[in-house]
Amino acid sequence: MIIVMEHNATQQQLDRILKYIDDRGMKTHVNKGDVLNVIAVFGDKLTINPETISAMDGVAAVKKIQEPYKLVSRQAHPEDTVIEFPNGVKIGGLERPVLMVGPCSVEKDYEGLLQIARAAKEMGCQFLRGGAFKPRTSPYDFQGLEEKGLQYLAKARQETGLLIVTEVMDTMDISLICKYADILQVGARNIQNFKLLKALGRIKKPVMIKRGPAATIKEFLLAAEYVVSNGNDNVILCERGIRGFDSEFSRNVLDITAVPIIRKYSHLPVIVDPSHGTGKRYLIEPMGKAALVAGAHGLMYEIHQDPDNAMSDGAQSLNLDQFREVTRSLNKLIGRIDYDNKNSK
Ligand code: PEP
Ligand code: MN
Repeated sequence: MIIVMEHNATQQQLDRILKYIDDRGMKTHVNKGDVLNVIAVFGDKLTINPETISAMDGVAAVKKIQEPYKLVSRQAHPEDTVIEFPNGVKIGGLERPVLMVGPCSVEKDYEGLLQIARAAKEMGCQFLRGGAFKPRTSPYDFQGLEEKGLQYLAKARQETGLLIVTEVMDTMDISLICKYADILQVGARNIQNFKLLKALGRIKKPVMIKRGPAATIKEFLLAAEYVVSNGNDNVILCERGIRGFDSEFSRNVLDITAVPIIRKYSHLPVIVDPSHGTGKRYLIEPMGKAALVAGAHGLMYEIHQDPDNAMSDGAQSLNLDQFREVTRSLNKLIGRIDYDNKNSK
């Protein structure tokens, strides 16, 4: 932490601050300038509150050097985290970006889900996504098939070998979902459900956290810090758009800048969801490409065998023909991006 004193701060004010910090076990070094005095504060543990210091007499500004997210920061862990699944699929670092596709909700038509899963497999996708517990804005909307939906996903995995991503909304359901899923998704609405995040820190399965519609990048990283600091290192971040002011053309503002920013400040893999990020199926391809070029470790997008009759998010889901066409084009781009030659393996 750096404390900049006001130009007219007195020696007494400076001494008071130095004593305050010393009393709390941290070390200081004063840089005496011609105009300003600057105090550098060191210590293994931050035992003083920057806000308290900034309110003290004689202080002009306080700058925190270390970010509050420690374990997920690059400072703490310079190497990229690469998450490996039992079938050899990897997410993160210089690995080839992964594709996660599937319906918004798992629906009662298992044959439809199987059709989706087969198309996904055929197009080289690695993950089947689908919600069995659905966080719906209205309590009157379809809430998900719950365990039946999980069973359908597991059955589709058995048939295709695809890995399963599905949402967990409640701590109560974690052990049930762990029986079926390969990645447990924390939905945008639960990014600050700290009890859920802590509980997911105590499991071994990878957790994917979606950015909340009003979450800052710092809050996004701190949500991941909750999981990692409770013992689970396998966390993936998913940018899915934040709330903007122009909902006429797109559901959210897909924040592509979050990708290189997260890659700069954190070692965790980051993927992008252009379906929820835009709300429009025609935007999946261009925004998916933009995300890949920006360095995303994967994409998640919604597809459905009959979008017009989907139980949720039909408007942002591709039908299977559109899915094939878009995915062919995304795969072509993935093949052209140079991931330090790792892509060609
Ligand atoms: C989803 O991926 O099914 C979902 C509900 O997305 P989000 O939490 O980003 O709204
Ligand atoms: Mn959806």
